[in-house]
Amino acid sequence: MSGDPILEVDNLAMRFGGIVAVNGLSFAARHGEITALIGPNGAGKTTVFNCITGFYKPTGGTIRLSHRDGKSYQLQRLNDFRISKIAKVARTFQNIRLFPGMTALENLMVAQHNALMRASGLTFLGLIGAPSWRSAEASAIELARIWLKRIGLLERADDAAGNLPYGDQRRLEIARAMCTTPALLCLDEPAAGLNARESAGLSELLMSIRAEGNTSILLIEHDMSVVMEISDHVVVLDYGVKIADGTPQHVRDDARVIAAYLGVE
Ligand code: ATP
Repeated sequence: MSGDPILEVDNLAMRFGGIVAVNGLSFAARHGEITALIGPNGAGKTTVFNCITGFYKPTGGTIRLSHRDGKSYQLQRLNDFRISKIAKVARTFQNIRLFPGMTALENLMVAQHNALMRASGLTFLGLIGAPSWRSAEASAIELARIWLKRIGLLERADDAAGNLPYGDQRRLEIARAMCTTPALLCLDEPAAGLNARESAGLSELLMSIRAEGNTSILLIEHDMSVVMEISDHVVVLDYGVKIADGTPQHVRDDARVIAAYLGVE
């Protein structure tokens, strides 16, 4: 149901030797909402993403992901492959990680590689016929083209991803993540390097994903105009610790948040 938590982070800790990057962090993100994770540089935001998506094994704490159908997963016990394929968590990175030599369309097809491999394996085993494989491939192409259209890149489907302008590559990354039909989409600074018009387009895209209701969004973002405009809920980190948690208006007026951003005690 909308409003129930999709993600429950409880007492999360991540240490790298003597560095405590995340320290006893607890927060929840709700189904159908955009939750922003903000904080000054080095606050621990990307480390939290890396724990949620299985790139790091947390030093302590639990991360529970619950689907709308009631299935739930303890992400700290799963590897990155299972978190992506079974728990349906997708992510983008601070630095663009497309396949630059592949076309825009191919990048979106790679995202659906698993579904296609499954159909291919079933065909090989004789469990489904070639027509079923072709229909799986056609569905994958259709989904890729739907996303290319949504991000305004249908005309450039056959261009190498690496030749696209920076803002287009950022949107293509989001489209690629969406082609995995995620329950939770984790975006690491998607507005970084975008101009004002591109940022406005990004906000619209994320709000349209929220409106469809199938994918909840967890967003790391330094662009406060984007955060304030589209977030339902904001969690603020500083030195690996949560210092505020609430609506955008609530955290904006919080004295600890203002002090953290201004760098005063
Ligand atoms: P930014 O906004 O600058 O991206 P952030 O809030 O995402 O910062 P993190 O990248 O999570 O912060 O880093 C938090 C702390 O953990 C920093 O002190 C960083 O140097 C440290 N850290 C992160 N990853 C590692 C690692 N693999 N090994 C050692 N220290 C790390």
